[in-house]
Amino acid sequence: MKSFIHKDFLLQTDAAKELYHGHAKNQPIIDYHCHLDPAHIANDRKFDNLGQIWLEGDHYKWRAMRTNGVDERYCTGKDTGDWEKFEKWAETVPYTMRNPLYHWTHLELKTAFGVEELLSPKTARKIYDICTEKLRTPEFSARGLMRRYKVEVVCTTDDPIDTLEHHIALREEGFEIKVLPTWRPDKAMAVEKPAEYRAYIEKLSQISGITILKFNDLIEALRKRHDFFASVGCKLSDHGIEEFYAEPYTAAEIEQIFNKVYGGTELTGEEIVKFKSAMLYEGAVMDWEKGWTQQFHYGAIRNNNTRLFKKLGPDTGFDSIGDFNVAKSMSRFFDQLDRSDKLTKTILYNLNPKDNDMLATMIGNFQDGSIAGKMQFGSGWWFLDQKTGMEAQMNSLSNMGLLSRFVGMLTDSRSFLSYPRHEYFRRILCNLIGNDVENGLLPRSEMEFLGQMVEDISYHNAKKFFNF
Ligand SMILES: [Zn+2]
Repeated sequence: MKSFIHKDFLLQTDAAKELYHGHAKNQPIIDYHCHLDPAHIANDRKFDNLGQIWLEGDHYKWRAMRTNGVDERYCTGKDTGDWEKFEKWAETVPYTMRNPLYHWTHLELKTAFGVEELLSPKTARKIYDICTEKLRTPEFSARGLMRRYKVEVVCTTDDPIDTLEHHIALREEGFEIKVLPTWRPDKAMAVEKPAEYRAYIEKLSQISGITILKFNDLIEALRKRHDFFASVGCKLSDHGIEEFYAEPYTAAEIEQIFNKVYGGTELTGEEIVKFKSAMLYEGAVMDWEKGWTQQFHYGAIRNNNTRLFKKLGPDTGFDSIGDFNVAKSMSRFFDQLDRSDKLTKTILYNLNPKDNDMLATMIGNFQDGSIAGKMQFGSGWWFLDQKTGMEAQMNSLSNMGLLSRFVGMLTDSRSFLSYPRHEYFRRILCNLIGNDVENGLLPRSEMEFLGQMVEDISYHNAKKFFNF
């Protein structure tokens, strides 16, 4: 019997097969946004077993398990063993059919371990043992897995107060895969809780060596860290925001707001928005000065379940798609930067698919011919990182922009087993274009150009765009 994940998985036409096997398949991976722990790469972490590498920290799987009626101790429990957790995951897998987890699970089993059997309670023990044995060999360490998937560059996600010691060690050691930091200053903007904010600012002050007493000191300290990140090879920033902030403010207002929150007083909603507007703008200017790419992941509502947030903390599977209206503030934000000629390369990721067409047209407002695809509509993110979501994003981008200039896929993952998501994306991309060729919507005589286009979206566009 043909295995479920076979060589033409997701490729429905001959043109799609030709594009994938002839062009996309062998391209290296540039994973320009992820949440891997750089320490795991620096120490070349070995994994104990398949349960550990799969279920440790994976809130997508926990969410599916809870939905399937699995008790919390098999998701995040501290006293439950890796096998017990894995067994519950294996019981859940058949019930994930039509959720992307079903495809990801079997793609990972096939591409990492050569396992073609479907995961279920019947096969759980056998698959666990085969994969665990492999995971204990050097080829399956953190670095081994990166090499296996032909990874060329990864960009991690780092706080301005991070020492970047692991990035530095990797560079000094001459590790052949580039592991670069990404500037993510979310905490420098998180003024909602004055005490936590002050504690953060004190740490920033300490690591930057700049005494922070007023807003300008804060900007100076951040700039110093920004320079340091650049010296370690950083080329991107990233912001996790609910909405876009582009309210008018004066320097005096921001000064006052900073003093108020630093002094321990809670800010009003209006003050918070003004402060975040100033911070986003100042950060965007720093990125422009260095020729970095700024990324914005917006539109999530987080920690919706208070009871379980208190028990388990953030990023444990209790976030969802928000319904913010951002077009006006987003337009104001980019226009403000463009008017002073300080708008750097940008990638926008929406979480609500209602924004797909809005984003695909918004980026067109600020394309200025200085570089192909300067403004990017990022690949389907989080809840949209699945076949339908990726197709919808690429269709909007095709209809209202240039798909050919798209910088393509990123894992946004915490796991070393997530690299097959690039393969998943490439198959979906080739299938989309292949279907058009088959239906006469794209000329078959241009297969060579389409092949190049697929290679570009899989690899070359990102390579040129980011200047690694
Ligand atoms: Zn991310």
